[in-house]
Amino acid sequence: MIPHRHSIQWRIFAYYTGLICVSVGVLIGGFYVFEKKARIQAAKLEIQTKLVGMIPFYFSANSRPLADMRRHPGPGGPPMWGAEPGRDRAERVEDEARLTGRGARVDGLLRSLRSEQIYFYAESSDGEVLQRTDNFPDELLPDASSLGAEDQVWDFSETATQLYTVHSLRGRGTLIMGEPRSVLIGDLNALMLRVVGCALVLIILVSVVGFWLLRYSLRPIRKISETASRIAAGDISERIDTSEVHSELGEMAAVLNKTFGRLSEALTRQIQFTSDASHELRTPVAAILADCQFSLKRERSAERYRETIEVCHESAQHMRALIEDLRDLADFDEKTDSLVRESVEMKEFLANVVSVMKPIATEKGVHLESELDSAVVSLDPTRMRQAVLNILGNAVRYTEVAGRVIVRCIKKSNTVVIEVSDTGIGIPADKLSHIFDRFYRVDEARNAHTGGVGLGLAISKSIIEANDGQISVESEIGVGTCFRIELGV
Ligand code: ADP
Repeated sequence: MIPHRHSIQWRIFAYYTGLICVSVGVLIGGFYVFEKKARIQAAKLEIQTKLVGMIPFYFSANSRPLADMRRHPGPGGPPMWGAEPGRDRAERVEDEARLTGRGARVDGLLRSLRSEQIYFYAESSDGEVLQRTDNFPDELLPDASSLGAEDQVWDFSETATQLYTVHSLRGRGTLIMGEPRSVLIGDLNALMLRVVGCALVLIILVSVVGFWLLRYSLRPIRKISETASRIAAGDISERIDTSEVHSELGEMAAVLNKTFGRLSEALTRQIQFTSDASHELRTPVAAILADCQFSLKRERSAERYRETIEVCHESAQHMRALIEDLRDLADFDEKTDSLVRESVEMKEFLANVVSVMKPIATEKGVHLESELDSAVVSLDPTRMRQAVLNILGNAVRYTEVAGRVIVRCIKKSNTVVIEVSDTGIGIPADKLSHIFDRFYRVDEARNAHTGGVGLGLAISKSIIEANDGQISVESEIGVGTCFRIELGV
């Protein structure tokens, strides 16, 4: 599949291909500059060496100037020098032989120059052109006024079109050797064309391989996004396969899996909660409907009507309690950030909570006592009051007549512990871990008796944790229960 042009794969591919192109471009540019320099340097060395090789033939060994030599005419042939007239025959023969040998060597040298497109020019001190190769450019013809007047050895000269060396000796003559710049540049351009061609092939190869490597490397990301898509489509049981993701993405996959797990748990809880809530509402509604239908079927006695109204009243009260608890829970779930914290003196605070519960406990025949240390804690007093009241209400509710409920506030070094202990019916050990779950009740028989809906402790736990506290419970059947709230000071 071709990736979208905004995809990470495409972007990384574009970036690195661009980077490779720029790098290769810079390398080729650098190579061109250095190669050109090196070639000019090599050409200079070659021309100078060749020119030096020519000097003995034109500025002769016995120091006679070139002008003294007789030039042999010949169709395009090499320059030849005769012997001086007036010398004796033996000398002339010797000169002739020497000069013929030299001529042959000059001839060979000029042939090799021609094959390399190097031009050569030789001029005697009196202006006679002794040698001029066909390709010698007019623009380099020596200026009579400047050349030959004094010794000049020009190291190396460059014009826009020529690279050449001039060697001029006063009273002897002038030698010029060089080559057109176009020859050197032409060779260089041909080389560069091959280099650029190779670089292009290399870039294409690297890009194709890089594209597939990138695609392979990004496979785990694609897997993660595919799994996330399936989860988004509703399959919340899906998880990212972390066994295949060994790279840095493994950590991310594990975190995502954890998040998905928590989301799935939350969703399951939500579904359970809705089903529990509707179940809780169904029972009183069913009771109201059944009683009303029964009463309306035919004429009933006043007492029967009264019984029906009582059932409706009781059911409505139960529903109101449930609705209030649900509203509290929903409110709290929504606004955990909206706690209004303040420094609360716990002794005063708990004494007030106990005083609220006192009449209910007294009415039930339960002794409600308190042992409170003085301690200041930062918390939301309204919410915390609700939490402690739920726990205290349970303690009174599940304690028999003449039983005892004690509220303690114990100040420790870094914490304040609120204990609500009773001598009530207790909670079975296997049920203890569930009593903070929403709608959990230890058994329906107790509920029928006490009228609870199983939300009180869930609400209390949420409030306590939002106030950075923790709640725990210890209980023994027939002995009693102790709820412990631990708050940071
Ligand atoms: P409910 O509204 O039914 O009391 P809670 O969430 O307040 O719901 O309590 C959950 C269950 O824990 C209750 O049904 C009850 O059986 C048990 N429970 C709570 N507090 C006590 C206690 N002090 N003694 C014995 N059982 C308790």
